[in-house]
Amino acid sequence: MHLRVLGSAAGGGSPQWNCGCANCVGIRSGHALLQARTQASAAVSADGRQWFLLAASPDVRAQIEAFPALHPRRLRDTPIGGVVLNNGDVDACLGLFILREDQPLVVYASEAVERGLREHNALTRTLERRPGQLTWNRLRAGEVVPLVGAAGPSGLTIEAVAVPGTVPLHLKGLAAASPDDNLAIVLRDAHGHSVIYAPTVAAHTPLLEERARTADALVFDGTFFRDDELTSLGLTTRSARDMAHWPLGGPEGSLRWLAQLPCRRKILTHINNTNPILRTGAPERDELTAAGVEVAYDGLEVEL
Ligand SMILES: [Zn+2]
Repeated sequence: MHLRVLGSAAGGGSPQWNCGCANCVGIRSGHALLQARTQASAAVSADGRQWFLLAASPDVRAQIEAFPALHPRRLRDTPIGGVVLNNGDVDACLGLFILREDQPLVVYASEAVERGLREHNALTRTLERRPGQLTWNRLRAGEVVPLVGAAGPSGLTIEAVAVPGTVPLHLKGLAAASPDDNLAIVLRDAHGHSVIYAPTVAAHTPLLEERARTADALVFDGTFFRDDELTSLGLTTRSARDMAHWPLGGPEGSLRWLAQLPCRRKILTHINNTNPILRTGAPERDELTAAGVEVAYDGLEVEL
């Protein structure tokens, strides 16, 4: 199984268009210890021929161009067989609309995520211009099903694991919270290798722990280092936990949990532009290194 991180930033990217924080300013000015990142997404394939996007980020067009394995092989073509939506956030779904060029795709989504996209949303009609343009496959927490794309079976299975999250901001007041609003995606190949893609996780759960203990690689929520990361900058009154992200640092942070997991690769993604781990040499970054945890960058590859 091959996994390629297409984008490693949280919603907004790094730099974010309206952000003048130290990291965003540093990236714009070409600071040697900082690098730009597009919004979180990954591509996965068992055979190197058919690929699946894990989330469709607003940056999907540039992400495809940056990875030759996703380029068309004929006049009209794509090696992308499908898209797996781990939640209904704008930064996880907007790319679906960018991929609207009448190309058959299979979309895997929970009922809550599918309804959030298809109800109250005239733009979805551009994805349904003709029958068979998009095929919606339902993700149900706890079910293991073969991952099948527009080009047929992938050689992978997919399991959705419900993890604590939140209703997307644009659906607050329109849709009730559901356990399958936010999913960790477990992918397994025929050789018994597995990877978990979990870019947004609000808290520990026993099932996530169980899956993580047997996974070869875990790509995990690295959005914030501190719970008060945004409030201390005066950017919002909401803490990391209020925004459904488990912060990395401190005695209750996810880093201590990640450090004791046996996975061969533990990689943080969906990193907010304010996060100090983006700076090579920052003490927070050294804490990760000591814990055996990597910071994803756009283009990072995992081979299992
Ligand atoms: Zn910033």
